[in-house]
Amino acid sequence: MKAKLVGSFKYKNLRYTKNHPLRIPRVSLLLDFLFAMELISEEEVLESREATLEELLLFHEREYIETLIEADRCQCVPDGARERFNIGNYENPVSPAMYRGSSLATGSSIQAAESFLSGVPAFNPAGGMHHAFKNKANGFCFINDPVITLEYLRKKGFERILYIDLDAHHCDGVQEAYYTSPQVFVLSIHQSPEYAFPFKRGFIEEMGEEEGTGYNLNVPLPKGINDSEFLYALQSSLELTLSHFSPQVYLLQLGTDPLTEDPLSKFNLSNVGFLEAFRYVRNTLGEGVYIGGGGYHPVALARGWSLIWCEISGREIPKLINGKARKVLESVDYEEFDDEVDRSYMYNFLTDEPNKGEVRSEVREVLSRVKGLFNAL
Ligand SMILES: [Zn+2]
Repeated sequence: MKAKLVGSFKYKNLRYTKNHPLRIPRVSLLLDFLFAMELISEEEVLESREATLEELLLFHEREYIETLIEADRCQCVPDGARERFNIGNYENPVSPAMYRGSSLATGSSIQAAESFLSGVPAFNPAGGMHHAFKNKANGFCFINDPVITLEYLRKKGFERILYIDLDAHHCDGVQEAYYTSPQVFVLSIHQSPEYAFPFKRGFIEEMGEEEGTGYNLNVPLPKGINDSEFLYALQSSLELTLSHFSPQVYLLQLGTDPLTEDPLSKFNLSNVGFLEAFRYVRNTLGEGVYIGGGGYHPVALARGWSLIWCEISGREIPKLINGKARKVLESVDYEEFDDEVDRSYMYNFLTDEPNKGEVRSEVREVLSRVKGLFNAL
């Protein structure tokens, strides 16, 4: 079956500021790596396009977008924008990534949805900026491409859309956008906000309001989640979701920060566990619209998303990384957070050893609380 990877080398020149966790190469690295591994052909790449102003306004307030455009033009922080729109600080700095990069990632998520609707599954690794609010930047995100893509699907006539978020962080921007809506069901599995960003949102008790009550499901998990626990949480929560909601289409956010090497998260997923989670969703729901998300270890994300791409495009997954692709990974300018750990396996093997293990009682308890509260609504 044909499939498309929506991407571009333009991202190389649309980088965050120095020392920002998202300064790392991501989409361009993934493309370089896939080409070196001979796991993609030129025809399978759909060149990313920017979102139009009209598309951005499907979710965001005009004044906010105009301020981003102004900040992009001057590469400065317009008066009052820091306080009002939360841009121009360490978290959400003004850089070419802020507006041009985000707009390209957003156009690409819509392209992935368009491609899906035309019968060709597609993956936009640059997408998944799930923290942005309608009038405010948040958590490194300026433009909420998941919400804009969901709005695009709603405009196409879909009335029951499932959004699944596998990123290690809760999708506060998406949750807020649909908190009172029964049309978009939001399911998120993430690090508990008791210890992880966004801290204030992502608890079990947040199950929607008004007409949206029962259309929001949060699965906040403890530190150290292994493959078996992640899959257990996904299976239980997706089953629960489908007992209440029958989606016509779904959007899947595939942040790679649950992977064990990620410097910004406390989960311990192997990339084959990550792949298994993807397979589970796809086997259960059929083909969907696939977007990226967080992921702060460039080599881990290139390997993880390669597996997703192989799966979507129907390729066998090679075990070894060839010499050419190893050079691509070795050329990445990245300093390990903890240089005591031996990461040499990442440069030799494409797939990790699975990190299967016991499903701890605290994980089972989270799921049974989720179930209990949800079924009592
Ligand atoms: Zn994340």
